[in-house]
Amino acid sequence: MIAQHLVSLSGLLAAALFIFGLKRMASPVTALSGIMTAGAGMIVAIAATFLMVLDLDQAAKSHLTTNLGLGILALLVGGGWAWWRGARVEMTAMPQMVALYNGMGGGAAAAIAAVELSNGTGSGALLLAVTIIGALIGSISLTGSIIAWAKLDGRIDKPWRFSGQRLVNGLFFLATLVVGTGIIFLHGSLTGAGLAVLFFAGALAFGVLMTLPIGGADMPVVISLYNAFTGLAVGLEGFALQNPALMIAGMVVGSAGTLLTLLMAKAMNRSLANVLFSNFGDGAASGGSEIHGQMKSADAADAAINMRYASSVIIIPGYGLAVAQAQQKLHEFVKILQAAGVDVKFAIHPVAGRMPGHMNVLLAEAGVPYDIIFDMDEINADFTNTDVALVIGANDVVNPAARTDKSSPIYGMPILDADKARQVYVIKRGQGKGYSGVENQLFFEENCSMIYGDAQVVLTQMVQSVKDLAAAA
Ligand code: NDP
Repeated sequence: MIAQHLVSLSGLLAAALFIFGLKRMASPVTALSGIMTAGAGMIVAIAATFLMVLDLDQAAKSHLTTNLGLGILALLVGGGWAWWRGARVEMTAMPQMVALYNGMGGGAAAAIAAVELSNGTGSGALLLAVTIIGALIGSISLTGSIIAWAKLDGRIDKPWRFSGQRLVNGLFFLATLVVGTGIIFLHGSLTGAGLAVLFFAGALAFGVLMTLPIGGADMPVVISLYNAFTGLAVGLEGFALQNPALMIAGMVVGSAGTLLTLLMAKAMNRSLANVLFSNFGDGAASGGSEIHGQMKSADAADAAINMRYASSVIIIPGYGLAVAQAQQKLHEFVKILQAAGVDVKFAIHPVAGRMPGHMNVLLAEAGVPYDIIFDMDEINADFTNTDVALVIGANDVVNPAARTDKSSPIYGMPILDADKARQVYVIKRGQGKGYSGVENQLFFEENCSMIYGDAQVVLTQMVQSVKDLAAAA
């Protein structure tokens, strides 16, 4: 009885810690403590699971001994592996790691459902329906996330498409749904047999089929959607088990994932349906007006000295900065400019990089103060009064075609108005296109000069040239 109260209290405490942790994740200043708080919530929830055993009678306890051993082994293997991978993962590989861990959550929800069905639980049709729906969503999230991981990790580099694919996928989903409904109508009595196996196989396969045709560029949105799926699946299984901590955790993850998905789609000015079904974003986008003019290049040293004597500089970081791991060098350059009296700010596009917040985390890692980092809406008006816009490894998020060219595939996507600065410098390795696969009109503008090279190398040259200048003075 005491154990039962303790379990309920722990569930409540865990849920409170999840919500409080999520709230603190809203700002980079408090994000780390937010993650720690939510992690503490997870430890409390796991402890509560073990406490449940205390409440069982002696016979049930001895039956559980083997399961407990397996549970502890799973915790050690899973926890140890996640700790080891988490400590080593590169910033650029973070989105695929998120995809994988998220998929595991969906898989765990589906596994709970499978155990519930094989135990013959869910006497009522409602509980059975909730279990089945949770299993369907969790299974799709598991295999879909694995495909998203493979795409982001470059293991699958081509979308898999054929004509009539949407119809085939739709029919496949319908068939899986019919099997699931069959299990509910048969009150789970046939679940020990082939029907449940058929249902799970269908749901898992649908996750693969649904994700394969979506282009690599849209994988971060897809991951976020599956994150919402996982939350929903966990919440539903929590309902089936009547476990409040699972229900609340699932709802928190589900709603956060949904909001993030919508936010990303909005930042790209696309609907979710367009992301899922338009076959956009495999780096082979076509369209857009022909661009006239020529790109001109500039020397890293000249650009650095120009910025040293400017009064205002706005820096726009993009995915290339993360690839080059040049955030520390960049911060060193910023400190030199600030010491010379230059007003330096950072402008962050909501989808710069490969996942929301990617750039904020990268800059925080290098120790860039938060008060000089601004979101797109806060800073866009400042470009017209700025001497230099320095674009580092960013492309699509500064393409003015999004504002002006109706035939461009990225038309309508809100962008950072870097082109409105008096002078624009762009650091990138060559003439490669952005993630969307379209040519960037900015690079051909009169006021824009390209500095070709790896961001790390170019920034090292820039730092050196302003240091040499100071030494010579
Ligand atoms: P992009 O991927 O558009 O461009 C990155 C640029 O960096 C490339 O043009 C590349 O050019 C350059 N680059 C690569 N490596 C290096 C390096 N080592 N040194 C210097 N430059 C380098 O990045 P953005 O951040 O501008 O745009 C993000 C894109 O991702 C958008 O299309 C967005 O819609 C998409 N996206 C983002 C999501 C998110 O949540 N953040 C979600 C979904 C999509 P080169 O090869 O010539 O060096």
